[in-house]
Amino acid sequence: MSTQFKVMNPATGELVKKVNYNTKEEIKQALENGHCAFKKWSKLNAHTRSKLLKGWSQIIQENKEEIAEVMTIENGKPLKESLGEVTYATSYIDWYAEEAIRIYGRTIPASTETKRIVVTKQPIGLVAAITPWNFPAAMMTRKAAPALAAGCAFIVKPAEETPLTTMKLIELAHEVGIPKDAIQCVNGKGPEVGALFTDSEYVRKITFTGSTPVGKSLIRNSADTVKHVTMELGGHAPLIVAEDADLDFAVTQTILSKFRNAGQTCVCANRVIVHESIVGVFSEKLTEAVNRLKVGNGMDEETDIGPIIHEKGFLKIVSQVKDAIEKGAEVLLGNKYNADKEQGYFFVHPTVLKNVDTTMNIMQEETFGPIVPITTFKELDEAVDIANSTPYGLAAYFFTNDYKVGTYLHDHLDFGIIGWNDGAPSGAHVPFGGMKESGLGREGGSEGIEPYLETKYLSIGHYDQ
Ligand code: NAD
Repeated sequence: MSTQFKVMNPATGELVKKVNYNTKEEIKQALENGHCAFKKWSKLNAHTRSKLLKGWSQIIQENKEEIAEVMTIENGKPLKESLGEVTYATSYIDWYAEEAIRIYGRTIPASTETKRIVVTKQPIGLVAAITPWNFPAAMMTRKAAPALAAGCAFIVKPAEETPLTTMKLIELAHEVGIPKDAIQCVNGKGPEVGALFTDSEYVRKITFTGSTPVGKSLIRNSADTVKHVTMELGGHAPLIVAEDADLDFAVTQTILSKFRNAGQTCVCANRVIVHESIVGVFSEKLTEAVNRLKVGNGMDEETDIGPIIHEKGFLKIVSQVKDAIEKGAEVLLGNKYNADKEQGYFFVHPTVLKNVDTTMNIMQEETFGPIVPITTFKELDEAVDIANSTPYGLAAYFFTNDYKVGTYLHDHLDFGIIGWNDGAPSGAHVPFGGMKESGLGREGGSEGIEPYLETKYLSIGHYDQ
């Protein structure tokens, strides 16, 4: 078996670096070390942990350009997006550095005079994380920061496509004094490392961002040792444009939501559902704006849309577009590709499809590519039915200035994140996460530290007033 794996540049197909797989023994040792580190890290006072986290955020910002370049080279996203992701990643560290010193307990009035009841929070133990390739910095820090802030030790396995950004961030954490074993990175194949994590007696929590099938298997495998789980899984976001919407604004926000990371995000608009009376104008405006997006190597300043991460992702996009066209969709723009299997790069030009309906695969399966499928609705109920018709429930967007329409949509859409006239609702200060098969738990905001804490209550008897 190979002891190394190759990190490739998806824009050129060139080898970036060979990275060592950790052996099974090394990973087991790392888990034991994490368990031991937990005992010391959790005893540090919260203000010291907070200061260390602030130092980590600062050193990442000081190395922002270098980290962003590494990210673009291994992931393909435009450099301006990588720079944005580094800031987004540190915003989680900043937020949880502040939350570390605000982990409060409470007292409860007892049912007799002879008792006093006190509730405290304590860190749950060693946390094992598995992260995806599409946000190699932010998906890690939004787990690591609350875990460390709460007093947990943390170990992460990054995606094999993009380990370098994560490894760099963890190196910087050690540089500012976060103990080596309190935050660790191991590299290996997903199923093998996943099994070592879920089987380990030392791991008290699994936190995962990635696809729904892998999330389900991690939940199943965590059952034997009853581990806590947080699951940030797949999405299939609907974006509804109501009859009264400001169309220019809706177009700008649709582009913002759809094309980040070449459409390879879990919250990107994947089904655009437009009122039939305005679909002509909306599609025209959208197509015109999308046509201005530049496809290319993320290192070029001009680039808006980078490559697709790998051939598997590329083939899925091509097959969804083909299936939609065969079933009657009309291509308004795109359906153009610049791909070379031998060289190892796969670019998809932004594509707009009209006359899409729910029989097409693109309306049911996550696309993870720069494709906008447009369908129509007449009555609001119909838009809600289409929006809720997949097993996913991560993000949904709608555009309307009508209060009644907006509140109706908010109340009836089964999604954890709702953007009302907002195509970019994410942030460190808000609870991010999905309903249905899009996940369990929330990351970000004051909610995001709770999953790393146990609640313990103390009942003191014979209390003398
Ligand atoms: P993936 O599930 O294939 O891989 C994610 C991670 O899991 C990688 O580190 C991979 O090595 C590992 N893995 C693979 N098989 C495993 C197994 N059997 N056991 C344990 N770990 C395993 O997903 P991907 O293709 O890398 O990422 C894209 C997916 O992530 C999409 O479905 C996307 O919607 C989702 N995502 C969700 C969020 C969110 O917050 N909800 C954010 C970003 C991405």
